[in-house]
Amino acid sequence: MSQPPDAAPSPQDKAQRLDALRQEMEQCQHCELCRTRTNLVFGVGAPDAEILFIGEAPGADEDAQGIPFVGRAGKKLTEIIEKGMKIPRDEVYIANILKCRPPGNRNPSPQEMAVCMPYLLRQIDIIAPAVIVALGSVALNGLLGPGHAITKMRGIFQDFNGIPLMPTFHPSYVLRRYTVEVRKQVWSDMCKVLDKLAELKES
Ligand code: URA
Repeated sequence: MSQPPDAAPSPQDKAQRLDALRQEMEQCQHCELCRTRTNLVFGVGAPDAEILFIGEAPGADEDAQGIPFVGRAGKKLTEIIEKGMKIPRDEVYIANILKCRPPGNRNPSPQEMAVCMPYLLRQIDIIAPAVIVALGSVALNGLLGPGHAITKMRGIFQDFNGIPLMPTFHPSYVLRRYTVEVRKQVWSDMCKVLDKLAELKES
């Protein structure tokens, strides 16, 4: 059955568009990382997710499996989403600024971020999340441009092309600095995300 022209895209439409984008990205040779990666780490989750989590870049585990956030940091992120926010991990969407692993887990270079960003923008456009969570400084600066300090901006909603964006600490930082204060800060940030979703549903 055909849909009216202004109908919101269905989850199936979004899944198809994401799949086409993934296939296009499999061929990407815009930077050197395509030569050293094992797998493209495109992203995972519900194509029509309300919350999109964006990390930095795949690590060794993610590169081996082709799935974001499956290593130690991934377990922490899953715990935050499932135990903390009480949302099954497969109901959100999880992606990274870079889709290929920088060798030795070095930080992404500005050039790598610049050439990968248009792909992330297309992913965001397809998923059309209600809220974006930027995990750590690389995600924050990738999305909003350089010069943003995660320590100053976490917990404060920003605007990303009309979508509320919550900066919070990267799960690796939470693991490294496992203090009550850091855990409380991340929990407070995630409560704000849940409140924002409730507010958007009411309006
Ligand atoms: N860290 C990230 O930023 N992304 C991953 O996918 C894994 C670890």
